[in-house]
Amino acid sequence: MRLGTARSNGRHYAICERSGQLYPLIGGVGKDLSELIRLGPALQVHLTPLPDAQLMAPLRPRQIIAVGLNYLDHIRESGLARPDEPLLFAKFPSSVIGPQADIVADPSVTARVDWEVELGVIIGKPTRSVSPRDALSHVFGYTIANDVSARDLQFGDGQWVRGKSLDTFCPLGPLVVTTDEVVDPQVLGLRTWVNDDLVQDSSTAEMLFPVNELVAYCSRHFTLDAGDVLLTGTPWGCGEFASPRRSLNDGDVVTVSVDGLGRLQNTVRFVRPATAIG
Ligand code: MG
Repeated sequence: MRLGTARSNGRHYAICERSGQLYPLIGGVGKDLSELIRLGPALQVHLTPLPDAQLMAPLRPRQIIAVGLNYLDHIRESGLARPDEPLLFAKFPSSVIGPQADIVADPSVTARVDWEVELGVIIGKPTRSVSPRDALSHVFGYTIANDVSARDLQFGDGQWVRGKSLDTFCPLGPLVVTTDEVVDPQVLGLRTWVNDDLVQDSSTAEMLFPVNELVAYCSRHFTLDAGDVLLTGTPWGCGEFASPRRSLNDGDVVTVSVDGLGRLQNTVRFVRPATAIG
């Protein structure tokens, strides 16, 4: 199934996409997909599609765990040391946006905004101390993520939370594809375009730690819950390591894709907030 969350006539619905139409899930009115995942596996679909529906972020996770330096080709291009264990960091759920929403950067905060296509793993049930052998049975599905990164903050701080968690810096979607439609998560091509330039083009086969080992590793240290999202790292081709170095500019359109999961597109806007919020 291809699942997500959509807005229609001012309401939110957990939905199933079929042939370009968005059908509400039974019990999904006013709900986020993650709430239905927590209820269990028996998802049913209404027979009538939603009129004028727009996809939003497929879910708003309780937590986003991300993995750094997890692609061999990215480790080679960065010149950084190959980690002995998965290098975990957090990305705030408040950074999530959906397809077609703008990535908004404040030019007084950052000047070096970069892209990172990633396979996003959606956890299906509470998971603690699972073995690598059993870990994939705890996965509900997969989505596409863009781990947008303010490099000046990331490398200036010495740790990554601020540079990775700015509002709008985690595009997700357009849909969550359930595991029955993704036979092997380690053979998926993944790509990024900035406007018409293909800048990342690799495969999840390049992962240093595959999905099952990442889920098992996380679950040795903390509980993963249904609807949590694990970002599994990005391959070679980030702007930060290009020669000359490249950053996103106002008006750039960033498209990220993973085989079988679709494409996720967002436009970059550099906007200085006019007034404080709150
Ligand atoms: Mg990343």
